[in-house]
Amino acid sequence: MGELIRYVVAHEVDHTLGFQHNMKASAMYTLDQVRDPAWVAENGHTPTLMDYSRFNYVAQPEDGIAVEDLIPKIGPYDKWATMWGYKPIPGASTPDEELPTLNEWARAQDDTPWLRFSTAQAAGSDPHSMTEAVGDADAVAATTLGLKNIERIADMLMNATTTRDGAPYDELTQVYGRLLAQWRLEMGHVTQLVGGVLSQQKHIGQDGARFEPVPRAMQQQATQFLLDNALQTPQMFVRPEQLRRMEPTGVMDRIRTAQNSVMNSMLQTNRLNRLIEQSALEPEAYAPVDYLADVRNGVWSELAAGSEIDPFRRNTQRVYLDTVNNRLNGGATAPSGEVRALLRGELRTLRGQITATLQTVGDRATRLHLEDSIDMINTILDPRAMRERTAAAGGGRRGGRGGTIDYATHELVPSIFGFDYENDPFLALPDLCWPDYVIR
Ligand SMILES: [Zn+2]
Repeated sequence: MGELIRYVVAHEVDHTLGFQHNMKASAMYTLDQVRDPAWVAENGHTPTLMDYSRFNYVAQPEDGIAVEDLIPKIGPYDKWATMWGYKPIPGASTPDEELPTLNEWARAQDDTPWLRFSTAQAAGSDPHSMTEAVGDADAVAATTLGLKNIERIADMLMNATTTRDGAPYDELTQVYGRLLAQWRLEMGHVTQLVGGVLSQQKHIGQDGARFEPVPRAMQQQATQFLLDNALQTPQMFVRPEQLRRMEPTGVMDRIRTAQNSVMNSMLQTNRLNRLIEQSALEPEAYAPVDYLADVRNGVWSELAAGSEIDPFRRNTQRVYLDTVNNRLNGGATAPSGEVRALLRGELRTLRGQITATLQTVGDRATRLHLEDSIDMINTILDPRAMRERTAAAGGGRRGGRGGTIDYATHELVPSIFGFDYENDPFLALPDLCWPDYVIR
């Protein structure tokens, strides 16, 4: 416990010394370094205390990393940045006279990645500049390893939280919610690769560009990873022996909420706009039509297979429709014409796929779900939905956040699940140190 407090206090003291957060730092080590006991003992799993890279969730038991080395420590970036900020420069009597030396020192960032700082103007596009990430040099590999640890913890959850006879099951419930939140966080790191832009801060006189799109293959790999892991039901969280000690019902809502947050990120307007522009500039880029088709076919994979759709997956598919509806008809601002055309086209294609599947589907619950999905698509595509959003945004009704129309009251329902797309804590930049994430 003392080590944990020392870590947080050191981070806060660094703020008083003038240090800003450096969310890029943790991506500047390779996965091999993050898992190397000698490396982390010397350099930490992140080069600085000033990233939010709390604990080394990438490390595996077989790596043999000492427990005390799973926590960030004063790293090479901290020492170097302190030198840059505080070391006296003999002979310089004004700030301007210090500049040539400071700029020369700063060039150490060119050859030593772990001295780099977040890129100005990256505007949330850089998958290497993320909060709560470890090993985000390769988020797919890091999250693959992270999921192994989450599953290990899920296995231990009952024994670890039920040690005191006579105590209530509050700790089980709390840790379960945090574990699901950790799952959501790590999925979010993968999401950021899609439409992502790798960046390095440079100034005039340095070689190379500051911004480069994430390669197409990496974006596709990330999309497939999310379809296979985040949007399939995470069975490690569906354990009756735990759930039935926590609450009478709730696991379907918890998983749906976690998936809704992932989907909100996957279909973020800024992400779609970046994909559109990457595709406009580079013929080889991951085209938005291909990305959206991959997402549709992954979320609705039972259609092509002609298989039964279980209750969890029916929720996942509703989350998809709810999120597309929010992009088209919700939000304070209308989607761009390009995004509108893409998403409406996806819904029309999906409607055709569902209609074709309905010819042969046998399972009654699956059939009712698919018929209901067609009704939802028709509502979302109804031109009145868009006009209603505009009116609501202008008139201030419901705070301008529209969604499905309730025709009886002529009011807009922002989300059929009550999901708050505009204030998703996993997508907002934290405004205080160490935000706490729980999914309820
Ligand atoms: Zn801080």
